Amino acid sequence: MPLKEGGREYTRATPGDVMGRLFGTNGIRGVVNRDLTVEMVVKLASSAGSILGSRVALGRDGRISSFLFKEAALSGLLSVGCDVFDLGIVPTPVLQYATKHFNLDGGLMITASHNPPEFNGVKVIAGDGVEVSRSVEEKIEGVYFKGGPELASWDHVGETHELHAFEPYCTSILSNIDLEAVRRANLKVAVDPGNGVATLVAPRIAQELGCKTYSVNADVDGMFPSRDSEPRPDNLNDLSALVQATGADLGVAFDGDADRAIFVDEKGRIYWGDVSFALVVKEFLKKHPGEAVATPVSSSRIIKDVVEEGGGSLLWTSVGSVTVSRTMVERSIKLGGEENGGIMYAPHQPVRDGSMAMALILEAMAKEAEPASRLFGKLLRYRQMKAKVPCPEHLKSKVMEKLESSVEAEHIEKIDGIKLWYQDDSWILIRPSGTEPAIRLYAEAKEEARVSKLLENGKKNIEEIISKLSH
Ligand code: MG
Repeated sequence: MPLKEGGREYTRATPGDVMGRLFGTNGIRGVVNRDLTVEMVVKLASSAGSILGSRVALGRDGRISSFLFKEAALSGLLSVGCDVFDLGIVPTPVLQYATKHFNLDGGLMITASHNPPEFNGVKVIAGDGVEVSRSVEEKIEGVYFKGGPELASWDHVGETHELHAFEPYCTSILSNIDLEAVRRANLKVAVDPGNGVATLVAPRIAQELGCKTYSVNADVDGMFPSRDSEPRPDNLNDLSALVQATGADLGVAFDGDADRAIFVDEKGRIYWGDVSFALVVKEFLKKHPGEAVATPVSSSRIIKDVVEEGGGSLLWTSVGSVTVSRTMVERSIKLGGEENGGIMYAPHQPVRDGSMAMALILEAMAKEAEPASRLFGKLLRYRQMKAKVPCPEHLKSKVMEKLESSVEAEHIEKIDGIKLWYQDDSWILIRPSGTEPAIRLYAEAKEEARVSKLLENGKKNIEEIISKLSH
């Protein structure tokens, strides 16, 4: 059943709901003690431990239930003989960095990212620090649904070690930035971790970058009393106000597990992730001419524009951060990003990292010596809107087939669903939802009226196909 989260509908992950499937689009998520129980986490952790290897990192976010599930995961891992490296409360990118940096075989992160407080979940990380691929998820699911793995004998259960990773993690971010340039710029930055675990690293990194740092909602609180843990233009009023009250040059808000960052300019204006990613791409191509950049097909055309203007090459991927990260690793691509504020910078690590994103934006501001409102403003060229049409699961592929044979455009791309590019630079992407019985539409153009028209026509087209197929 679709739930409402901050005005957005989504379908909850229901582990075990679909036989043989445990993982959703980004790990395992569910409502605590309803969809996700201690017993399930013990079995998931032991199953994952039996596949990942003998040395596994374990971390958790600041949610009320995260201690509960961390202890469950710890027991599951130890029971199959894994030695566990316990990182305590950390942002997801810190756990990912530690897994690779300390040569561990994998990691488990107890977090529900940006979901409401009643949710929790588990992200499973491979030895390279990136979320495991679908094929590894299938192996883990195979073990899980066959009743769990073989347990270790009594004298071979694992040991627990404490592991501290903040130091090497922060050092890595700072060493991948022109530190002197940023420090010389004397920027002021306002930070809003939204009561999430970004509190533990982001203000510190901003200070190390020589920024006068102000913060709001900067205590870890699993109830998320200040705002939804997903930063969006409609819930960052506290940050906008702090930016204006302090005269800060930049505001930055993080999601619950600190892998995504959304930015606010010195006037308090909030930008969606396409614009901040475009600024990072622009600076990146000045430093690394000719390099490739990866982004999902749902991203704004502004990314294509700045890549072309900077003489780089753009690789479109299917939608989902794990796909972008895995593509970056396979093809040695240094920079990737999503419209929701996820930026992957491989010289640090090829996964979404909110603090790294903040450092890259501060570096761009220092180098350009222009206010954020001008830097971001120049990249606000397009309007994007989304919609969806309800569609029964069993009709999804037929609808897409029919659509494919009926559409016309200047250029048609089939990386993930169908993307139609038109001569006036507008486009529409139509793809079946991976999480609910619906077909999703994303459209973008220079003029709002054109976006509405594209969405309207797209919806009408799909509705007609569904109605014909249903009769
Ligand atoms: Mg997140």
